[in-house]
Amino acid sequence: MKKAIYPGSFDPLTLGHLDIIERSVRLFDRVIIAIITNPAKQPLFSVDERKSMLHDAVGKRFKTVEIDVFHGLLVDFARRRGAGVIVRGVRAVTDYEYELQMALMNRRMAPTVETVFMMAAEQYSYVSSRLVKEVASMGGSVSGLVPPAIERKLRKKLQQA
Ligand code: ADP
Repeated sequence: MKKAIYPGSFDPLTLGHLDIIERSVRLFDRVIIAIITNPAKQPLFSVDERKSMLHDAVGKRFKTVEIDVFHGLLVDFARRRGAGVIVRGVRAVTDYEYELQMALMNRRMAPTVETVFMMAAEQYSYVSSRLVKEVASMGGSVSGLVPPAIERKLRKKLQQA
């Protein structure tokens, strides 16, 4: 049974994330999408909101996908959940350095947990949650970059802010 973890902030989920999730589902028996709760980061969407967005976008579609939340060390979470693989997406060279550091540090702490990198889909290789929020906050369209339901939630949330 090949179990993988796909960790991230997902604040909010983009079609780039979704592409990585769909590809992971084809490769692994079970995929745990792990929402990172980082106290140092001020998210736009609460953990519960992000969980529910992920549930609507993928939880219902794929029986082998599970959505969970974690804080602390990812490798501890991976051990606890019995996952041997961490999935990460790589967009541009700018992602590379950070991802390399993380992967090597995680390997040092947990040599049996392997980090697997997937190249971003061409059409989403410039898409990040941060840029999506920035564009949406200034009234720009993010249609085609996030699921339609998330685009609506973004607009509503930014109106409240
Ligand atoms: P983090 O806060 O850890 O960067 P994200 O939710 O932004 O979390 O990203 C989670 C993972 O998804 C990271 O490996 C990131 O590189 C990857 N990712 C983010 N956006 C895309 C995208 N458009 N295409 C492919 N991978 C992506």
